[in-house]
Amino acid sequence: MASPVDPAAFEASRRRTGLLLLPLAAMATAGAWLLSYANHSLNPVDRWFLPLLSLEALALTALLYFRRFSVREAEVGALGGLGLYQLLMLLYLVVSGEVYRDGFGATSLWYPLIFPLAFLVLPREQALRLSVAYYLLGLVIGLAGMALGAAPTLKALNSFVQFYVVCVAYLVLLDIYARVREQYFVMRHMAHTDPLTGLANRRAGRERLEHALGRAQPGRVAVLLADLDHFKEVNDRYGHPVGDQVLREVAFRLDQELREGDVLVRWGGEEFLILAQGTDLEQAQHLAQRLGRAVQDEPVVGTIGVSLSFGVAVFRPGDSAETLVERADRALYRAKHLGRRRVELEV
Ligand code: GH3
Ligand code: MG
Ligand code: MG
Repeated sequence: MASPVDPAAFEASRRRTGLLLLPLAAMATAGAWLLSYANHSLNPVDRWFLPLLSLEALALTALLYFRRFSVREAEVGALGGLGLYQLLMLLYLVVSGEVYRDGFGATSLWYPLIFPLAFLVLPREQALRLSVAYYLLGLVIGLAGMALGAAPTLKALNSFVQFYVVCVAYLVLLDIYARVREQYFVMRHMAHTDPLTGLANRRAGRERLEHALGRAQPGRVAVLLADLDHFKEVNDRYGHPVGDQVLREVAFRLDQELREGDVLVRWGGEEFLILAQGTDLEQAQHLAQRLGRAVQDEPVVGTIGVSLSFGVAVFRPGDSAETLVERADRALYRAKHLGRRRVELEV
């Protein structure tokens, strides 16, 4: 419900990239086939497999477009097709003896393309396992030809050694990059998450708020500020660790009440912000009352009961995140002055 980093936005951007790249790949493979055909340089693998790859790219485009395939499925499909093509090509070069005469030629450029693609599409360990398997298969194919009696020219041998060595270098480098990327995601998560409650922190909340306001209809996005009443007394009476437990339970109960798409933020010490999209002022008032009841109706930790005061505001034309939150904050201030445990709307 209240995920600090927005995975849906990330998925959508990958999907757009896929819908751009897959048709381009279909055109590129069809173009390569036509050029080689005109050139009379089509080998048997290209002759049969390039059209298949082109069709696969078109099919994946359609499956992705009509949402029959997830982004991950489309990516893995493309990776599988391309990997198979590269292995068949290598097999052809070995069987025809070409690789022992002239070396790898253009295959040395295309064969390693699978590595960055695998690391882009799959989690690091899976990508590494797949890449190593693909590399070893290629190595076995190359060595098998020699074991069966093919004697490489000196030029081919040079190309042979360089090819297999540089592939290892790519793999090692990609694994290092992927580790850095993993660290980046861990740090990014930490930078956007409140460690006590696991909710979006103020930084993440601000980002989500600005993003939501960028495409909001006036009157249809609400901000609720909720502040625990007399929370200092809870700390004073039961100690800080119990206060922490209360905060966690309050966060949990608020989260339980919210819809998919609402964002719950730990805005400050004992203050929460709720971003409710597609919600007008009246609906937001009801939401605040429901959230208040969810916290107040039952003790939160042991016999300790707490209450919330709410300030509510909705998006107006010309509002920034600041001005909107400021109005909710003024309403919250009023709720405190009018006796707490209540919901006040902006004026
Ligand atoms: P009011 O009804 O006016 O909001 O009263 P209050 O006591 O809730 O407000 P005040 O701002 O005086 O006190 C807030 C308290 O929240 C003081 C602070 O120690 C406590 N607090 C803030 N963050 C945390 C936290 O992470 N854990 C614990 N246990 N307490 C916290
Ligand atoms: Mg308070
Ligand atoms: Mg406060």
